[in-house]
Amino acid sequence: MTSSVNRRLFATARAVLAGGVNSPVRSFKALGRPPVFIARGSGKYLFGEDGRRYLDFCLSWGPLILGHAHPTVVAAVTAAAKRGMTFGTCIKAEAELASLVQKAFPSIQRVRFVSSGTEAVMSALRLARGFTGKSMILKFDGCYHGHVDALLVNAGSGVAGLARSSSAGVPLDVVRHTVSVPFNDARAFSRAVKRHARSLAAVIVEPVPGNMGVVLPEPGFLDLLRVETKRHGILLVFDEVITGFRSCFGGAQTVFGIEPDLTVLGKIIGGGMPVGAFGGRKDIMDRLAPEGDVYQAGTLSGNPLAMAAGIATLTWLEHTPQAYARMNDVVAWLADQWRAVSPWTINRWGSMFSVFAAREPVTDYAAARAQDSKVLARFICAALDKGIYLPPAPCETAFVSTRHTRADARQLIALSRSQ
Ligand code: PMP
Repeated sequence: MTSSVNRRLFATARAVLAGGVNSPVRSFKALGRPPVFIARGSGKYLFGEDGRRYLDFCLSWGPLILGHAHPTVVAAVTAAAKRGMTFGTCIKAEAELASLVQKAFPSIQRVRFVSSGTEAVMSALRLARGFTGKSMILKFDGCYHGHVDALLVNAGSGVAGLARSSSAGVPLDVVRHTVSVPFNDARAFSRAVKRHARSLAAVIVEPVPGNMGVVLPEPGFLDLLRVETKRHGILLVFDEVITGFRSCFGGAQTVFGIEPDLTVLGKIIGGGMPVGAFGGRKDIMDRLAPEGDVYQAGTLSGNPLAMAAGIATLTWLEHTPQAYARMNDVVAWLADQWRAVSPWTINRWGSMFSVFAAREPVTDYAAARAQDSKVLARFICAALDKGIYLPPAPCETAFVSTRHTRADARQLIALSRSQ
């Protein structure tokens, strides 16, 4: 069932926007049908230009932990807009949001706000390189850190060879400094670190990857990263753009008890506005301009609207600790019920989950990609036709908000049963 409204709107968009979109996965290319155009959102629902209502398990790819158009967030942003959209000056809200972030992430002694996760990662890596005086970066296959040139890499053939870029337009010279190894592969990681110890500035990881679908770190894996990086003077960077404030008032580092040197945040800390942040040890962050020699800047960094949305969201979460228990319960229940009716693999962490059309456990990128993507795409389409909006591609993460309940989860189970 594809509405003619969406078809028409997409044709109009394609005539003026590259590929009809401003971010590739929105195009529904993996589903082989036109994207759903959204007119508005409220709570857990999206309302399409096609006149249909969708129960939203994508939530703008994670930021909307309080649901769409949460009254407190909308009021804060509206009030801020009335005072002025941007000044390009210091405002007191920047330190307010930074204090909330710091309270939740003790490893973050100093913060800097930017306008996207990509920008935050890019800046954090420059800082890591400036601080250590080294140039190489180690990442993990299937982890995504935004469209930073040096990280658009998936060196599938192991640690030894040169990394290969995942995108045209990224010179080999740039990815030459990137090594990528399989997630959860302790031996491959240790081997790569041993080999490149003297050149590695940073190891960057999504502590609970969400960009190959949800994949859990095996016990001890994150500890190994911490131990090995410390031993060799390499900075450990946790990319918590997805996991930050997702399962508790903190991040994966809170849950696993690991202190990275730098942390990257985004999504939830902006409450739906464009925000990214990076922060960490004071001695490292002090190397940033204007105090230090690592340059980084942004016209709209820390702008009043983004800070207002972030403060409203994080304050709400801080004062409603039971919200996490409720969201995490909905997802745990969903996974249990789903496994009872389907042979598919369901991975979950906190209030995020992924379904893989695979019978085998999914513990790394290779396993995630081995699923039957076509079958999963058909399931996502069937969900859409029933008014359930899942992330529109395989190997993505679904989310619940504070507004979702077990009854909403039940709709997905019912659909799974009927397939
Ligand atoms: N890091 C992670 C873990 C992400 O999931 C993303 C985006 N989904 C980014 C970085 C990049 O963030 P943005 O899209 O805001 O640039």
